[in-house]
Amino acid sequence: MKGRYEILKIHTRKITLSDDVDLNKIAQASAGLAGADLANIANEAALMAVRGGRKAVTQADFEEAIEKSVAGLERKSRILNPKERERVAYHEAGHALTAYLTEGAEPVSKISIIPRGFGALGYTLQYPTEDRFLLSESELMINIDTLLGGRAAEEVVFGDISTGAGNDISRASDLVRRMITEFGMSDRYRNITLPTTQSGIAGVGGSRDYSEKTQEYIDNETARIVNERYEIVKANLEKNKEALLTITSELLEDEVLSGDRFEELAKSKVIG
Ligand code: ZN
Repeated sequence: MKGRYEILKIHTRKITLSDDVDLNKIAQASAGLAGADLANIANEAALMAVRGGRKAVTQADFEEAIEKSVAGLERKSRILNPKERERVAYHEAGHALTAYLTEGAEPVSKISIIPRGFGALGYTLQYPTEDRFLLSESELMINIDTLLGGRAAEEVVFGDISTGAGNDISRASDLVRRMITEFGMSDRYRNITLPTTQSGIAGVGGSRDYSEKTQEYIDNETARIVNERYEIVKANLEKNKEALLTITSELLEDEVLSGDRFEELAKSKVIG
């Protein structure tokens, strides 16, 4: 974080900064970003100030620049119908609330239902409090739970799921599969990397990565773990449905909730 602070100081030297700019906060919010990203963010923030007719770059300009770098450009032209918009709001509130309910999860810093980037209809940002280079087994599980929170919220509220969670589901399954095959975190193959096999005979049965038995174990175990986590996440949201409704209704009204506002709402409604 200190390194990022120094880099930001260099890149903002020639920029007029408004009094509210706190480079330390920006350094904290940009965890995981490299020097080149930070240079872009400083440029982008300056451009935003120019476009907005401001003489000095504000903290909000920096925040928007970071979000653009993390989640892509705002696409206000992508108009969702009211039903889709409602579903997106519940979905994002589900991610955020799951993070809130999960001990050890990174705090939610923003929830938005303004479409961004290429596919995101909404997004929930969790700013890491520090740069991370490795994750423990329990931390991976926390990430999986948070990923599943969006779909679980949809099911809790609508009794029905949608394609909107496709990317979350693929990331969660992928993470679980890698825990089993790469990180040696499964029950049967604890501390063992699963070797891939080459099925030498061309044209016969195609090629596959693992022996049939191992592949079957990986598939079953992935499904078992994802389903187990999903049920836990869903039960937690079910229990805190009132919090989910309250957060969503404010999100539908304001389109964006700050991390602080979200915490306030969650704190007042969550029953545990
Ligand atoms: Zn999602």
